[in-house]
Amino acid sequence: MLEAMAKADVGDDVYGEDPTVNRLQEKCAALFGKEAALFVVSGSMGNLVSLLSHCQRGDEIIVGKCNHIFQWEQGGAASLGGIHTQTIDNAKDGMLPLDQIEAAIRFDDQHCPVSRLVCLENTQDGRVLSVEYMNSVGALCRKNNLLMHVDGARIFNAATALNIDVKILVDAADSLQMCFSKGLSAPVGSIVTGSKDFIKKAHRARKLVGGGMRQAGVLAAACIVALDTMVERLHEDHENARLLADGLKNICEIDVEPVHSNMVFFKLKTGDVSALSKTLKENGLLANTIDRYRMRMVTHYGIEKKDVERAIDIINKALRHTAKV
Ligand SMILES: *Cc1c(COP(=O)(O)O)cnc(C)c1O
Repeated sequence: MLEAMAKADVGDDVYGEDPTVNRLQEKCAALFGKEAALFVVSGSMGNLVSLLSHCQRGDEIIVGKCNHIFQWEQGGAASLGGIHTQTIDNAKDGMLPLDQIEAAIRFDDQHCPVSRLVCLENTQDGRVLSVEYMNSVGALCRKNNLLMHVDGARIFNAATALNIDVKILVDAADSLQMCFSKGLSAPVGSIVTGSKDFIKKAHRARKLVGGGMRQAGVLAAACIVALDTMVERLHEDHENARLLADGLKNICEIDVEPVHSNMVFFKLKTGDVSALSKTLKENGLLANTIDRYRMRMVTHYGIEKKDVERAIDIINKALRHTAKV
């Protein structure tokens, strides 16, 4: 990736003149089966410019309570776009139940905001939404004159787990955001895809939020390498996540959640994970605490079977240690 970055042909992308950015955008549009694509700095920016492009002030989006757009993006749609949000509880499998999406759609009534967009996330906390489900939400949206946005930060993990072409998985989406900087291991960048009209609006919105980049080809070059080399190895991360989960299941203090892609969530039967998290860190193992009771571990490029075995060993020892103190 570093070599590709150093050798990248560049131009001024604010004027659409960076050949490497243009190549990445064309490649992504084709990969996802959409008319056009736009390179952005981050997943959050990709989601934000998508929402700003689909919605006017006073419009409403329907989104899962656990979804990144609602939880982890500072409510940017509201603070910067005047966009209202209606949340639905994610079901155990990460999906938003169809009947609840339907119930959340507003009537044409002067008291209400205007329903505009349904946002799905795939994978959602590592859980995979099926193509049948994505298509049925798409059909529901079309029936009700709504648009559908997919936060596909990890859409290639979903396509890998389902063993289908990503284009088929996102066919129903009016727009999609995908991150190069997660499982695909690039240092920076996300892509937004959709129709030509939508991308034209997203391009304006990107400038508005300060996302116009100049010689961004150095970044896009790494993203092209990510697409060419990192997608095909994602199944290794899924295998390692299962291996990790299987190892953790043998530790009696731990409750492990089912694994669907590259994420492993677990709880301690005794409750609080903060002491464990601290001990793991001291022993060179970094794992996110999602809240007081739940931890998340993610497998990725550079983490191999032997590292997973070492992680299980460190957790096992840490639990013996915290039990003693
Ligand atoms: C990481 C992530 C984002 C945001 O991406 P950033 O590049 O960190 O802004 C959005 N949605 C999901 C599902 C993510 O995992």
